[in-house]
Amino acid sequence: MSSVIVSKVGEVYQVHGGVIHPFTMELLGARYIMPGWHKLHDHEATPDLKDIEFHPYKAKRSDVVSNKVYKVKSSKGNTFYEVKMSTSGSLECSCMGYGYRRRCRHTALIENNN
Ligand SMILES: [Zn+2]
Repeated sequence: MSSVIVSKVGEVYQVHGGVIHPFTMELLGARYIMPGWHKLHDHEATPDLKDIEFHPYKAKRSDVVSNKVYKVKSSKGNTFYEVKMSTSGSLECSCMGYGYRRRCRHTALIENNN
């Protein structure tokens, strides 16, 4: 689980991280902005939820999403397969053969061309 950071910019609170929408709550006489357990000082008004900006945690996209996508014609020549190169240099193909064996002639073709 990622940590949640609560900051205040002017009159607006910003909640960075977390997956649930922010809310305020009272516990043992103290008020908090949740998630993040941001304690409100006594002189601070409890913010309206509309005054809390929410920037939810986003999972990192897989490293397969990267710079290079090659289009390789199928052996019948009627379709194209997409061979993606990850930032680490490994190849992934959209064809059925790759799905089964984790390698195929399309990834081999790219490997041999590099
Ligand atoms: Zn393939």
